[in-house]
Amino acid sequence: MTDQGRSNSTIRERLGLRPVVNVSGTMTSLGASIIVPEAIRAMAEIAPQWVEMDDLQRRASDVIARLTGAEAGFVTACCASAMSLAAAGAITGTRLLAIERLPDRTEGLKTEVIVQMGHMVSYGAPVDQSLRLAGATVVPVGTATGVQDYHIAEAITERTAAALYVVSHHTVQYGLVGLAQFCEICAARGVPVIVDAASEYDLKGFLAAGADIVCYSGHKFLGGPTSGLLAGRKDMVRAAYLQNRGIGRGMKVGKETIAGVMAALEAWETRDHEGIRARERAALELWLETLSNRPGIVPVIEPDPTHNPLDRLTVHVRPESGFSATGFAAALAAGDPPVIVRGHEAELGYIQLDPCNLHPGEAEVVASRLAATLSAPGDPKIAMAKPRSNSARLLRWPD
Ligand SMILES: *Cc1c(COP(=O)(O)O)cnc(C)c1O
Repeated sequence: MTDQGRSNSTIRERLGLRPVVNVSGTMTSLGASIIVPEAIRAMAEIAPQWVEMDDLQRRASDVIARLTGAEAGFVTACCASAMSLAAAGAITGTRLLAIERLPDRTEGLKTEVIVQMGHMVSYGAPVDQSLRLAGATVVPVGTATGVQDYHIAEAITERTAAALYVVSHHTVQYGLVGLAQFCEICAARGVPVIVDAASEYDLKGFLAAGADIVCYSGHKFLGGPTSGLLAGRKDMVRAAYLQNRGIGRGMKVGKETIAGVMAALEAWETRDHEGIRARERAALELWLETLSNRPGIVPVIEPDPTHNPLDRLTVHVRPESGFSATGFAAALAAGDPPVIVRGHEAELGYIQLDPCNLHPGEAEVVASRLAATLSAPGDPKIAMAKPRSNSARLLRWPD
């Protein structure tokens, strides 16, 4: 195990937390990311210092601009708050009094934000709420699985402040208007486009396709601290930044986070992407081999649906295996150590294994847990469990 892994398990033990193995992806509920060492060092270094925060964010703007091709940018608390700040900026511009009056006193301001219906998803909270927090009125267009150019064009009025485009595996992946055309329709009518690209590795493509602002998570692929990035057109970035005097105050980002994200961005530039890809591939091959020739289990390596440079192992789980997909995910999560898989599509009869967040040695741990779990299905009521919406556990917290 790495030093990072070791100290990590020590603090977990001290706090009485289970040592989970994460093959579900960069999940907020599991702590978001393995923060890269460069970011950890930068955070520790700046923590005891006084700094002038506007200057620190100016330096962050330079780094973000270099990596994204944007005119400017800044570090936010997370991607959801970047979207709130971007929407607020589109509503107020640089009018300081309007900034103080958000989110409810919006007389005389354009407040509508257009979103394709198939993009109205939840990433743990509803995407439209991040806009409503800014005082926006969300205008969904089209249907969940069908949006045409005219749905967007005709929804634009003199009240339209912006349009949001979501890039994610969560969204409907067909029948909607693509980003380039979405931007064309909006640009022709003077409406800025904000892109939610929270977990997309592509730092340049969305602005290059015509977006005005793009929002990322700093704690997903980048391996930064829990944070977000907002990048784009300078006037819009400025208007979003000024929201720190308004609704942004409750989304405050600290010096340690800004320094950590800057270091994570710089580390991203020099990261051995090929080497990481090869390690991820080796984990997938190992799991594929482990799961081959087992009754009722069909493992397939599949590319990421939004074209990030990563593959996952989709594991189709048929009843002959002794498990349902939901039951298999639950059994792995209840094991020792708990293996948390990507199970949000389990009702379709498969789970996925994501190789992007492993500490050294954990691919082998996952393989042995997969094999051991399949050879001992246990109580069929649990192993064959059907997916069920269940908020009871949530409602018992902190018990
Ligand atoms: C994760 C995610 C978010 C939220 O990002 P945070 O940085 O956790 O706020 C927003 N949109 C999409 C598509 C996501 O995947």
